[in-house]
Amino acid sequence: MGKKSELASEYEHILKTDKNCIDKAFDFCEGYKTFINASKTERECVSEIINIVKTKGYKELNKDITKLNVGDKLYFNNRGKALVLITIGKESLDKGVNFVISHIDSPRLDLKPNPVYECEDIAYFKTHYYGGIKKYQWPALPLSMHGRIFKSDGSFVDINLGEKDNEPKFIITDLLPHLSEEQNKRTLRDGIKGEELNIVIGSIPINDEDTEIKNLVKENVLRILNKMYGIKEKDFARAEIEFVPAEHAMDIGFDKSMIAAYGQDDKVCAYPSLMAEIENVNPMKTSVTVFTDKEEIGSKGNTGMDSNYLHDVIEDLADIANVKTRDIYRNSICLSSDVNSAYDPTFADAFEGRNSSHINRGVVLTKYTGHLGKGGANDASAETMAKIIKLMEDKNVVWQIGELGKIDIGGGGTIAKYITQKNIDTIDVGVAVLSMHAPYELVSKLDVYHTYLAYKAFLCNQ
Ligand code: MN
Ligand code: MN
Repeated sequence: MGKKSELASEYEHILKTDKNCIDKAFDFCEGYKTFINASKTERECVSEIINIVKTKGYKELNKDITKLNVGDKLYFNNRGKALVLITIGKESLDKGVNFVISHIDSPRLDLKPNPVYECEDIAYFKTHYYGGIKKYQWPALPLSMHGRIFKSDGSFVDINLGEKDNEPKFIITDLLPHLSEEQNKRTLRDGIKGEELNIVIGSIPINDEDTEIKNLVKENVLRILNKMYGIKEKDFARAEIEFVPAEHAMDIGFDKSMIAAYGQDDKVCAYPSLMAEIENVNPMKTSVTVFTDKEEIGSKGNTGMDSNYLHDVIEDLADIANVKTRDIYRNSICLSSDVNSAYDPTFADAFEGRNSSHINRGVVLTKYTGHLGKGGANDASAETMAKIIKLMEDKNVVWQIGELGKIDIGGGGTIAKYITQKNIDTIDVGVAVLSMHAPYELVSKLDVYHTYLAYKAFLCNQ
């Protein structure tokens, strides 16, 4: 009898099988940290990726592209908020393409369209939260301001303020514990209410004794904004301004084995897919790597996966190659590259350990998401699971399975269901995350690296 069963199997720490990957993983994550610091919003992320891929030979997919050659690298920018990267393969497109699709929007606080007000000599911005946040996590946390604002003359200015050490930051106040008897009786969900997420933006009034202006602190803030950006109060109605945690990505633990950062859902999958896509040279199958917007609010809107923008790009390619779009779809596979919730021993009650993902156990293959009996889930077929697991095992990628927590206690979804509408075999593949959707989410560097290896195994097929 052997010491170990030849039949039973357990999912184990990455270092049990890939013993020497620490240095490679830590190196890889230095690039990731730089990337995520520059990509706090979907707009910034698209600009960052375009800057990177332009140096790697990617050309814009437009009407000038009339022929597809093996190895051609193309990009399509959808309104500065979603991006499609393509590497043309040797096989005809109608044999199918390899999709890897992550999302680059993250939960945050958006400004309302009429956000500026003053109360008791303090100036504030009103916000409306975007995506699934625990509202109580956002007060008493340094915030930075990002976004685009148009002026009446049609010009616009991009704002990025509070990221550098010497720049001001912004904050939401919380009530001191001494006076919180009433607040403490609220449920956690309402510990801080949506209309209490008001951002402090100034406290000095204009110095003008003759003025008839009532809100002198607000006026002072508006004058500063006008000086800095040339904008007026009305311009906030023609803007998209997002407030996000101001701190940069940081190593966590004495062993520096983990990264805490804002927006790792889902930039922690976007970056590895970007690196795999860039390194994809003359593949057998064409790769289509997508960075999409709006996932956190249900993928609606024309930069989200429930829009036709990706379909139209595929149709453009099909037209150039003179093949049928539907043939491309029915022969394609898609990795919906999104994060899963890692088992958290502190909140063990929420998880079913045998089927949860764990940090440091490798890239997570999520067969299904959904809620109340897999409701709304893409439930990847046995055939699709078998194909992807074989690929992982052939290329020595450490992988694990992952359910999104115990049955009937919640749930969630990804972009997978919008891809399967096109009759594409789809499976969720990504990184296990602790404190998902918190201002700073936590991941393991080894997992990030093995997720990169997974996307590379999938895309770079010769
Ligand atoms: Mn996600
Ligand atoms: Mn999410």
